[in-house]
Amino acid sequence: MSEHIFSVPLAADRDGFIDRECPSEDCLFVFKVHTDDWEDLFRDEEVLCPQCRHNAPAKNWHTQGQIRHAEEEAKNYMEKELHKMLKGFADDFNRRQPRNSFITMSMKVSGGSYRSYTLPALAIEAFELSIKCAECGARFAVIGSAFFCPCCGHSSAERMFDSSLEKTRAKIDNLEGFRIALEESGQKNDAANICRSLVESCLIDLVGALQRLCEQLYLRIPEAKPAPFNAFQRLTQSSELWRTVFGEGYEKWLGSDFDYLKLYYQRRHLLAHSEGIVDQQYIERSGDKAYRVGQRIVVTPSDVSHMRDLILKIATQLRKQCAGHR
Ligand SMILES: [Zn+2]
Ligand SMILES: [Zn+2]
Repeated sequence: MSEHIFSVPLAADRDGFIDRECPSEDCLFVFKVHTDDWEDLFRDEEVLCPQCRHNAPAKNWHTQGQIRHAEEEAKNYMEKELHKMLKGFADDFNRRQPRNSFITMSMKVSGGSYRSYTLPALAIEAFELSIKCAECGARFAVIGSAFFCPCCGHSSAERMFDSSLEKTRAKIDNLEGFRIALEESGQKNDAANICRSLVESCLIDLVGALQRLCEQLYLRIPEAKPAPFNAFQRLTQSSELWRTVFGEGYEKWLGSDFDYLKLYYQRRHLLAHSEGIVDQQYIERSGDKAYRVGQRIVVTPSDVSHMRDLILKIATQLRKQCAGHR
């Protein structure tokens, strides 16, 4: 048996990117990689998924579309080869007929309009969000968010922070759209529950985003003493830690708005630990006069936008201070 190898080229999109897909069955995240970087920077033995960080050799990252296309092209190639073989066989048979025999037989092989070339797999249209890794320089593009560089696995704390903030903005901006779509399809109860839950989840997202950014930035300061576990989830303690490094903290950066931020953090604590039901500890810690024990807190889209503004103010200061500190 002989082996035939043929290859199917991958066409790049208008921005020069080719399509890739995470081979992990749970993920199958589709992203794009710049053709030149795929050739020059990526390693054969390991590529990483920007969404789940699954790793696998470079040959495993074809998209479902590319695989289907390659199968079609392989079928065309095989049919062409088979046709060539049958035609050769018929010619041979016809040549071998004795000239002086009483009966002559001939064989004809028809058909065979097979392409003699292989079509490249076309790329899906270009994505809006393209990223250049700050660590290795690889260029890649995604829809939504990328948590890791597919080439070196670097995770940018600052990019993740930006993308978390962007996610909370998108949740609030699209809230009415979700509500209307669900209500129109007769799901009024689901609409109310999903929309409330989306707004509340923003508080958790924002606290998580700032916590991770702080943890990463703090690690970059060589003389800083190690931060206690989850310290950056608590506002007063985080501010204290930054004050020891920069000589100033959230009180200075936010002024009287710091009290608002503390309130949002306390509300987030209730959502995460007691389904949003107000307890005595919340009243004591927050000083919130709007609620009594046993009530459930209400989070509004404008609370989320305000909290996002305050978080962003802190992040901007932290970035400035850290840049100046180097
Ligand atoms: Zn993945
Ligand atoms: Zn990288």
